[in-house]
Amino acid sequence: MGREIDVATPWGHLLAGVAAGSAASGGRSVLGPWRDLVFFGVVAVLPDLDFLPGLLLGGGPWHQGPTHSLLAAALATALCGLWGRRYGQGWLLAWCGAAVYLSHLAVDFCTVDTLAPIGLPLFWPFSPEHVTAKHAIFLDVKRRGLSWAVLAHDLKALAWETLLLGPWAGLALWLRVRRRAKHPLTGEA
Ligand SMILES: [Zn+2]
Repeated sequence: MGREIDVATPWGHLLAGVAAGSAASGGRSVLGPWRDLVFFGVVAVLPDLDFLPGLLLGGGPWHQGPTHSLLAAALATALCGLWGRRYGQGWLLAWCGAAVYLSHLAVDFCTVDTLAPIGLPLFWPFSPEHVTAKHAIFLDVKRRGLSWAVLAHDLKALAWETLLLGPWAGLALWLRVRRRAKHPLTGEA
């Protein structure tokens, strides 16, 4: 595991998560019009919390470990479902959680990766292979030293993510606001 991480930004994951979660829920309010967004946002950045153990235990942040596998996505889906049962929305929250978690894997899969191991351990623990898109869409975020070149590169990565993912997240938010305006108490159609 490297001391540095080259990944998509949390901002990009948030945008993708809001769009994927809203699409999976069919634009409906599940937990509440705005609590849904918090849920989507938390699940969207969840896989990248694998950098925490490395920071806490020393040795620098870890880079796209087992939390970036389909098994982890299945586990997160089950946990969302179990949690959703408290609200009588087990299946729907499991479905939305799966969509959001997979959106994270999809964005990372399509992100330029220059630090070994390249790509995601998608089939962990059944295969040690790391996979990545042949033609990456998103730029990596560099955290190696502070320089104007690094800053300019990272701003470009942010702008590119916003350009590609922002319209979908914006559409989801707009539909939510419109629905909220029509039905202020429930947010439902
Ligand atoms: Zn990630």
